[in-house]
Amino acid sequence: MKRMWIALLVAMPLVAQQPKPAPEKPSQPGPPPMVAPSQVNTIPEHPLTVLPYTPSLDVPSMDLAADPCADFYQYTCGGWMKNNPIPPDQASWSVYGKLAQENEQFLWGVLEDVAKPSPDRTAVQQKIGDYFASCMDEQRIESLGAKPLQPVLDKIAALKTKKQLAALLADQHQKDYGSGWMFGFGSDQDFGDATQVIAFAHAGGLGLPDRDYYLKTDAKSKEIRDKYLQHVAKMLELTGESAAQSKKDAATVMRIETSLAKASLTRVERRNPYNLYHKMSPAKLEALTPSFDWPAYFADNGLSNISTINVTEPKFFQALNKEIQSVPLSDWKAYLRWHAVHSRAPYLSSEFVNENFAFFSQTLRGVKVLPARWKRCVRYVDRDLGEALGEEFVRRTFTADTKAKTVDMTRRIEAAMEQEIKNLDWMTDATKQRAIEKLHDVANKVGYPDRWRDYSSVDVKPDDFFGNATRATVFASRRELAKIGKPVDRGEWGMTPPTVNAYYNPQMNDINFPAGVLQPPLYDPKEDDAPNYGNTGSTIGHELTHAFDDEGSQFDGQGNLKNWWTPEDKKNFDERVQCVRDQYAQYTIVDDIKINSKLTSGEDVADLGGTLLAYVAWKEADPNEALTPEQQAQGFTPDQRFFIGFAQWACENERPENLRVNAITNPHSPGKYRINGIVSNMPEFQKAFNCKDGNPMVRGANSCKVW
Ligand SMILES: [Zn+2]
Repeated sequence: MKRMWIALLVAMPLVAQQPKPAPEKPSQPGPPPMVAPSQVNTIPEHPLTVLPYTPSLDVPSMDLAADPCADFYQYTCGGWMKNNPIPPDQASWSVYGKLAQENEQFLWGVLEDVAKPSPDRTAVQQKIGDYFASCMDEQRIESLGAKPLQPVLDKIAALKTKKQLAALLADQHQKDYGSGWMFGFGSDQDFGDATQVIAFAHAGGLGLPDRDYYLKTDAKSKEIRDKYLQHVAKMLELTGESAAQSKKDAATVMRIETSLAKASLTRVERRNPYNLYHKMSPAKLEALTPSFDWPAYFADNGLSNISTINVTEPKFFQALNKEIQSVPLSDWKAYLRWHAVHSRAPYLSSEFVNENFAFFSQTLRGVKVLPARWKRCVRYVDRDLGEALGEEFVRRTFTADTKAKTVDMTRRIEAAMEQEIKNLDWMTDATKQRAIEKLHDVANKVGYPDRWRDYSSVDVKPDDFFGNATRATVFASRRELAKIGKPVDRGEWGMTPPTVNAYYNPQMNDINFPAGVLQPPLYDPKEDDAPNYGNTGSTIGHELTHAFDDEGSQFDGQGNLKNWWTPEDKKNFDERVQCVRDQYAQYTIVDDIKINSKLTSGEDVADLGGTLLAYVAWKEADPNEALTPEQQAQGFTPDQRFFIGFAQWACENERPENLRVNAITNPHSPGKYRINGIVSNMPEFQKAFNCKDGNPMVRGANSCKVW
């Protein structure tokens, strides 16, 4: 289920090509189609029992021959970029991605261990161990072929009227993450009253990652659409359809999805909460989409008594109604067969997995080889039983000392923000007061949840991967639906503990740092404060400023969508954000594609504010900290150590294909600009490296400052 406003630190990686909420997610023409199994990643990899160590200030990752005042990113990350080519099974490679892979290798070891049947396993270990074992049992999965898909295909074939679509959708929505089947449905906090969880009906129904893919007219977009058509046909052929029929069906799918795409808002439009807030009664939703049997849909989801639904995009549901009316049932069946095979492909035999990979990872993102089986299986356990796996991860890796130190760092950065707000010259006192109140209301979540999720009702069998994935998804869906009409649980986490990422959720008004992101080289207990504040401190500051960015600033301290800015303050804020938008709009992502800074400015402003807050907090904490002889020998001043530590979180290599997807879907700018765009706005940086006015890393009088 999607969480509406979660602001991530980095885009989520592909979870084994599975279409998922925030993150993402395969064509080959004609007869000799399949990706050969030899294209599975064959790089020798092994489970880890100890996580590898890289310091939070790593000199070999630098390019000391580069001029820090000309290109600070090259100076701090040049060595890393050279030494860390993109592995063939990845769309991009980064400090974050590498750490995530190390966590996965570590979890692989844990899972191999608990996959062995033993009476000593705890209940939690049995669930994650058996799930992993079922996923690793390739022989069994191969022997089943397309068989696990047959029940849903039979259900689709048995549809006699369009009215019956509702029952099928209710069932499939529970069995599938995301909103691929016609539309999305779930629960979330009421924008107007964040204490309550209500039902949400979302736009959806697409197979490609964004509406823009259906509508853009450039050559590259047309090429992708052609390949998508081939892919859809191929997948349908794998279910047993004739070549001619599957080609016809693919064209039908494209027609329906294009109509739905046209009726969907753009990503930039979706950044405005007011565009997505349309609370209505079930009767009103029925009036928007009378051709869909909503009473049956609600009844099958156990929601016959709901009184309110937030229909995020009413126009979409109006358009959906027209589609239901005008498209013949036989065409809808083709569309549903596609979404059935698309959503289940990762749990089927290799021909499905490979074809899915070939389009969604290879064609779309430039990934060369399929990630190894173990890696995909670790990711599925993390997705489906994440807090059970996380419990094991935390117990083995996250110390009380790291928790105490990072909690302390968080508090210091909050104190720095309070100070900065008080000193702002563009904000009125009344708004400052409200901003500080909101700041005080921010909940800090560090490491892992206070209470672990109880998966005891999920039936996990060691020999049924397809069934395990389905049952775990149904568990997650029902859990979300059961929240409707109840007060919100503020203790919940939107990320699993091993995740190498962080987020701010304006409706919870909480900042969240999973254990996975609080490890070297990001947070390094062995290093001095300077690089740690530069790296993890900036991340904390980044998340915190999201409470006050273009999205977050529209919610109050309780998480309600409620304006607390005076028009004058809002105008001043918008002017400062515009400075950052103008700056980033000049940067090129790939080819001649520039950053869509209307999409990225929330993140760009968070990077800028977060880094300054971390700097201020560090100066308050202990600016005269003694360095070890080794640290001294590196020859950097403490201020330089701060900025190098800051920049080294973002070292990355990207495939051009993936950059093109990012240009459309990713609200974060490329790593290079998340560093150079920031330091060039900071006089503190100019001073630290003695850069001259006019140097590329010195914007001087053109500098932007929001927080
Ligand atoms: Zn962010």
